[in-house]
Amino acid sequence: MSLPLRDELRGLRPYGAPQLDVPVRLNTNENSYPLPDEVVAAVEKALAATLRDLNRYPDRDAVALREDLAGYLGVRADQVWAANGSNEVQQQLLQAFGGPGRSALGFVPAYSMHPLLAAGTGTSWVDGHRDENFELSPQEARRQVAAHRPDVVFLCSPNNPTGTALPLAVVEAVLHEAPGMVVVDEAYAEFRRPGTPTALSLLDGHPRLVVTRTMSKAFALAGVRLGYLAADPAVVDAVQLVRLPYHLSTLTQAAARAALAHAETLLGTVEAIKAERDRIVRELVAAGFETAPSDANFVLFGRFADEKSTWRRLLDRGVLVRDVGLPGWLRVTAGTPAENDAFLHALRVSARSERSEPRSRERKVAG
Ligand SMILES: *Cc1c(COP(=O)(O)O)cnc(C)c1O
Repeated sequence: MSLPLRDELRGLRPYGAPQLDVPVRLNTNENSYPLPDEVVAAVEKALAATLRDLNRYPDRDAVALREDLAGYLGVRADQVWAANGSNEVQQQLLQAFGGPGRSALGFVPAYSMHPLLAAGTGTSWVDGHRDENFELSPQEARRQVAAHRPDVVFLCSPNNPTGTALPLAVVEAVLHEAPGMVVVDEAYAEFRRPGTPTALSLLDGHPRLVVTRTMSKAFALAGVRLGYLAADPAVVDAVQLVRLPYHLSTLTQAAARAALAHAETLLGTVEAIKAERDRIVRELVAAGFETAPSDANFVLFGRFADEKSTWRRLLDRGVLVRDVGLPGWLRVTAGTPAENDAFLHALRVSARSERSEPRSRERKVAG
């Protein structure tokens, strides 16, 4: 007996990166560094100060937090909206600007949550395409947007799972062509290399542009669930029509504000992670692997005749990476130097055992 599930949800599988308890977890692009003591103390104090008032609902509009986030981004507070992770922000955007009878387009391979959020909000999804190097030219982006005329376009830059960033010319071309909203998912913005732009610089004069960010990655706060957007104030008014009242708990708001007050300390690991990302790329290339150029805290690497068996062999050695469903490729998060060493070592051993497998089989047959 099957439940009367909505037709478009039938057969879908929930978002599910494995949460396995292994020594080296490099599969969900978290920041591997625990919070510094100074930030732990500040968050503890901020949370303690709210506890007696938890009988009251939180600030529905998270005004103080939005002011802090605006200060961090260098925009005005009325241009900022926050929710439980940028996933919720994007869901609210689809509730407001997508929905039944409307469509959203993203250029795959990109963030796997975008089509799932579309499905959840009854928005039909269109797979746009990148070239074989996972790149997208302004002409090509414009051509695909013109062909489908989606109500919402998702651009992910730096893109997950490839790590590749988009030139501003692509964002501008899409803004020019798209009949509706253009959402640039910048979850990894803090990890971008010098010279890689952010779409924040395009906000002025583009009322249909939305830039989403998160505290889950660079800020090392994935457990807090805090994402936000910057856009024209009219966009902030629009998402307030669909957000649940009191969606952002008092505890979340307090923890995020305390963390933001220590942004510099929290972001202290970003440079180390970027250096490790670049080291992973160098060592993988030296070992004969291919990588995609990365402006994020992870590296897409290949190519494997059978990436699933490589994934399994790494896991057998206690290293969890991500099978992103892209034939020939796997994705690894840049963790601490020790975690990355463990990954690189496990991969070299795995490659050696793979090469020796056919021969050992021959020997067995011969013997
Ligand atoms: C990790 C990630 C996010 C973050 O989602 P949160 O809900 O803020 O934790 C958003 N977009 C992309 C592309 C990501 O990889």
